[in-house]
Order: sequence, then C-alpha cells, then structure tokens
Amino acid sequence: MSTLTSVNPANEEVLGSYAPDSDAEVERKLAAAAAAVPQLAASGFAERARLMRAAADLLEAELAEVAALITAEMGKPIEQSRGEVLKSAKSMRFYADHAEGFLADSPLEDPSAVGASAAGTRFDPLGVVLAVMPWNYPIWQVIRFAAPALMAGNAGVLKHASCVPQSAIYLGELFTRAGFPEGAFGTLLIGASRVEAVIRDPRVAAVTLTGSEGAGRSIAAAAGDVLKKAVLELGGSDPFIVMPSARLEEAVETAVKARTSNNGQACINAKRFLVHSDVYDAFAAGFARRMAELTIGDPADESVQIGPLSTEQGLRDIEVLVEDARSHGATILAGGHRVGSTGWFYAPTVIADLSRDMRLWWEEAFGPVASLYRVDSLDEALELANDSDFGLGSAFWSEDEAEIARAERELEAGAVFVNGMTISYAELPFGGIKRSGYGRELSKEGIREFCNLKTVWRR
Ligand code: NAP
Repeated sequence: MSTLTSVNPANEEVLGSYAPDSDAEVERKLAAAAAAVPQLAASGFAERARLMRAAADLLEAELAEVAALITAEMGKPIEQSRGEVLKSAKSMRFYADHAEGFLADSPLEDPSAVGASAAGTRFDPLGVVLAVMPWNYPIWQVIRFAAPALMAGNAGVLKHASCVPQSAIYLGELFTRAGFPEGAFGTLLIGASRVEAVIRDPRVAAVTLTGSEGAGRSIAAAAGDVLKKAVLELGGSDPFIVMPSARLEEAVETAVKARTSNNGQACINAKRFLVHSDVYDAFAAGFARRMAELTIGDPADESVQIGPLSTEQGLRDIEVLVEDARSHGATILAGGHRVGSTGWFYAPTVIADLSRDMRLWWEEAFGPVASLYRVDSLDEALELANDSDFGLGSAFWSEDEAEIARAERELEAGAVFVNGMTISYAELPFGGIKRSGYGRELSKEGIREFCNLKTVWRR
C-alpha cells in the first residue's frame, strides 16, 4: 500500500509520509463509529452543543498552528487559511445554536384529518456517514459536513484527500479531544480505491462527497448499488455576468477575487466572465491589469495574494487547458504560463476569444485562469451561462431590477449572487444541479440530508 504524503506545494519539500490504515485498523474505526451512534443519540442536543462549542474553542485556540498547517500542506495564502479556520469554528457554533430548532418535531395542526389523535414528523439520525473530502479547503469542507452531522446525532468517518494527511489526522482527533465519544468522528487514512468497500460496509448508512465529477460517478454508483443515500458536491464552472448598468470598478475588483481566491482552486470560483459589449473593453482591460498585478509567491508570506497550485497534477492540468485554448486561437490577455521551476505556481491568467472547440469552453479550470466572453444582450448572457454541464454558483452584476429578476429565475445554478461573488454561509443552503451534483449542505437543509424524516401517527 502506498504511503500518503504531505508535500509543501510552494517548495516541493516533503512534510511527512503516513502509512495507510490496515484493514484491521479500518475495521476498528468503523466499529468505534457504529458504537458511538447510540451514545450520540442518547446524549441529546444540549450535550452535543456543549461538545461542539468545546471543539470550536479548541480550533480557535489552535488558529495559528492550523492555519500554518493548511498553508504548508496545500498552499493557500496564510490570511485565507486563518479565515478558513475561523469560518469553520463559527459554523460549528451556528449548528450548536440551531440544530435543535432545525430538527424540531413538527406536529400536524389537525391530526383528525388523518384519523389520528396526534400525527406529524420527527428527524432521527441515520447512523454512520462516510465523508469523502477534497484538499482545497482541508478544514472547512470537513467541518461543514461534521458540524451538522454530529449535531444531528450521526457519527462521521472521514476519508480525506490523500495529499492532506496532516489535516486529516488533526480533524480525526479534534472532536474526541473536545469530549465527543470515541469513534463519533474519526479519520480513515485510506486511498480512493478503498472507498467503495467502506460504502458497502453495512455499518455505514450514507455517504457525502465533495470532489470531482469522476469521483462523483464512482461514489454514486457504489452507493446506488447498495441503495444508500449520497450527497454529491462536485465541480463548477460558474458564470460571472456583467451588464452595462453594473458598477464596473467594483465588478472588476470582485471578479479578481472571485476568480483567484484559494489560488483559483474553489468549486465556486467564478470561472467564466460574460461581459456585455458596451462595457467589455473597459472590463477586460481593468481585469487583465489587476490579475497581472497580483503578488505571487510563498503563501506563508503575509503579503502574497496567490500561492502555488496544490498538486503537481493540478499544475499540469491547467497548463494543458491553456495550451489547448492558445493553440486553437484564443488570446491571452494576462499570464498564460507557469511561474518559476520549483513549486507549482501558475500566473493569474485571462483568456479571451474562446470557441466551442476548446476544452476550456467546457471544462472546469481548477487554477487562476479566467475565461472572458463578449455578449451582446441579456438573452445571450443567460444562454451562454447555461450552456454548461455544471450548475453550481453564479454571479450577476446589474442595477436593473427586471434583468436581476430574470437572472435569478433563469440561471441554471444552485445559487445566484447579485452584485457580489458566490460564497458559502452556514445560514444558506449550498449545492448544485446538473453535473455539479445533488443534495445540499449547510443551513437547515444541510443538517436534514442525513436524517430520517420520520412520520409518526397515533390513533
Ligand atoms: P477528487 O480527485 O475527486 O478528490 C476528492 C476526494 O475524492 C478525495 O478524497 C479523493 O481521494 C476521492 N476520490 C477521488 N476519486 C475517487 C473514486 N473514484 N472513488 C472514491 N473516492 C475518490 O477531487 P479534487 O481534485 O481533490 O478536488 C477538486 C474537485 O472538487 C473540483 O472539481 C472542485 O470543483 C470540486 N469541489 C467541489 C466543491 C463543492 O462543494 N461542490 C467544493 C470543493 C471542491 P484521493 O485523494 O485519495 O484520490
């Protein structure tokens, strides 16, 4: 079995290598998770909330170390790593505060209508849920599953991305350190090829994946074969539409952030910029200039805005996508090349004159590469925005009420952000349609995904 290796993507230094769990170790962890389920259920909301707040306290107390770990292991600029940790702790408190209300019993107002003296619904936990997670937000992606799942009374087993074993180990210990029962939330150190066996294990009730389309297909097929619930948060190629009435300077500034946050490796980064011809030239010039001005370098340095891509494969994928577009006639307005030869850095890039024979037109660019399109009308903008297999987030810039109403209604996406950029909030549901997956995380919808909505009826 190959080891799981943590490599600093800024300098390619190996930070640590970890032997994967043996089959016996996986068995022990699954048994512990199953044993924790009745304990969690018996503990009640108030006790779980106390433990969840204790875990949030720990995470906050360890802010500096955890942020440094994220930055070293996957290359996020350090300020953004601190933001990720704080957002995670805040969301843990959000679910500590609200889980009981989100999962409250709902009695029918008139039970006699169904021939009962009392009837309604309650939410019960499903049991052990497997979480297969990506490296791009190594703490946040996991917490946004774990906080609602544990508060609902489920246990969680984490299979984290193979390139972030240190984050995986940290998270595997966090909740028990805070006082949750042994096994309530643990890490399985395993590679992707061993996921299917865990899904098939009778002690595992359901699975959630945040990751690529390919992983989504495999996991959905395995879960489907054993008829287990799955939530899939997959890729995106989010449109960012700019209409003539938009506040242009603000739109340009936000576009840069929306494309390059997390070094351009977020599912909800804006990736396709659809700009009305009335403002296209001004937008393109400002956007390309600002992208070219971003500071690239060691993400541990507080002044750096763009760190490396997290994996060497990620760098190769971006290089291939850009070369394919260039060779088919696209125009590079900024960047378009690797930076340096050590570390997996890629220059913030803006590409125009794209056509449908280019891979960039259809595929997700998981790095700081923006595709720029000129559109002549709202109809054309909406049509082009929806001409994608993905449907995760979207952004729409306009001051025109009628245009905004159409965009909110017609954009094929799990979210529409008007005059802003797509961001996840614990208070709002998060998820996609089409090949961006199914199911929702966060808010009350997220916590209910891994619950049994049980109908109760008494004569
Ligand atoms: P990935 O290669 O799919 O990996 C994600 C997780 O799935 C890892 O733990 C990986 O394990 C595992 N995995 C991969 N192939 C698998 C398979 N066939 N069966 C079972 N497990 C498998 O994705 P990534 O490159 O880490 O992440 C980038 C993708 O995630 C992008 O497409 C991005 O848009 C998407 N994403 C979506 C969201 C969202 O909320 N919608 C959020 C963040 C990222 P190994 O590491 O061991 O291969």
